This record gives sequence, structure tokens and C-alpha cells, in this order.
Amino acid sequence: MSSIKEYFKGVGEGVRSLLTGMQVTGKELVTPKVTEQYPENRATLNIPDRFRAELTLKYDEQGHHKCIGCGICQMNCPNGTIQLTTKMVELPDGKKKRKLDKYMYDLGSCTFCMLCVTTCPQDALEFSNDFEQAVFTRDKLVKQLNYRPEPAEDTAPAAPKPAMDPEKLARIKAEALAKAAKIKAEKEAAAASAASSAAPAKEDTNNETSK
Ligand code: SF4
Ligand code: SF4
Repeated sequence: MSSIKEYFKGVGEGVRSLLTGMQVTGKELVTPKVTEQYPENRATLNIPDRFRAELTLKYDEQGHHKCIGCGICQMNCPNGTIQLTTKMVELPDGKKKRKLDKYMYDLGSCTFCMLCVTTCPQDALEFSNDFEQAVFTRDKLVKQLNYRPEPAEDTAPAAPKPAMDPEKLARIKAEALAKAAKIKAEKEAAAASAASSAAPAKEDTNNETSK
């Protein structure tokens, strides 16, 4: 008798478990989907903005980035993921300025900690959400972030200074020559005066000696 009771009890628990499972399944059937059918939906794939896929430099419409090559991001990166070099360039106004030469980033060693982004004083960095980063060799994960050509105005050699007005140049030269001639004449006059004042004194000395 007790075995029949146990049997029906087990059947009841099985039915209850089945209904619980169907309840969960039914709930999921009407819940909005979060799973993406990648790569079929590649064109319409919605990746959240905060997803960190790859470090990039921010560029404006003119192709400028804001990195000044200070190296703070490199110093703060715990993995040595960032290696940058700088160079000296001459600006159009003739002044020299240190600028970023190469900004190398190794995606393979990045832990996406954001230390570089949050400590950059220029707000020059951000993470893209481009998650398709699969490559065949490890070295292809090392990327140059300043890959765009530098805008012309940043690297143009200094413009030559306009030539001086010839008349003004001739006047300056003439004034300089006149001044040099005047100084020379004054020196010669002073030397002659010194010589003439020294001659009588020498003559007096000779006379005294002969006496
Ligand atoms: S990205 Fe920012 S912190 Fe890094 S070198 Fe450029 S300006 Fe400095
Ligand atoms: S996110 Fe972190 S690990 Fe990646 S480059 Fe920046 S500082 Fe280095």
C-alpha cells in the first residue's frame, strides 16, 4: 500500500517539476531577447557604448588628435601596453615643439582597466566598441593609434620671412657705414691728440738731460 502511495507521490512531484519548467520556459518566450544572432546581424548589431574593445585616439573632423605625447598614459599602464615616441617639429611661426611621433598599443596585453583613459590630461583617449579583433598572428594586435596623416598646418616648414624693403636696407647700411666712419675718425683724432701732447713732454725731458 505504501509503495503505491510513494508511486503517486513521485508522479505528482514530476508533474509539478514539469509545470515549473514550462512556467520558466513560457516566461522566457515572452521576454525581450538579449542574444545577438552574430554574424548574421552584423549590419544592425547593437554593441553598448561602454563596451571596451580597443583603445583609440580621439580625432576631430579635421583629423587632429589631442595627444601631446606627455607619456602619462604610458607611465600609468600596468602592463607596458603603450609605447610612444615623440619628435621635435618646427611650427609655422618658427618655434619648435615636441609632438607625438608614434603611439603603439598592444591590444593583446591590454586589460581594459581604463587607467590610461582616465589619467590622460588631454582627454585624448577612448575605447571603441569594435569587438571584431580576431587576427591570425600576435603581432597584428600591436597597432599604431596615430595612424592618420598629420594635418599639413602642423608639419609645414616655417614660412620664409619676407625680404626687407631694398631702400630701407640701403638706408640702414649707409647709416651703419657712417657711424663706423665717425667712430674711426674719432679714434684717429684721439690718437693724434695723444701723440701731439706726448711729443713736447719728451722734448722737455731731452733738454733737461742734455743740461
Ligand atoms: S594620450 Fe594623453 S596621457 Fe597619453 S601621451 Fe597623449 S596626452 Fe599624454
Ligand atoms: S586600459 Fe589599462 S592595460 Fe589597457 S592600455 Fe590602458 S592602462 Fe594599459
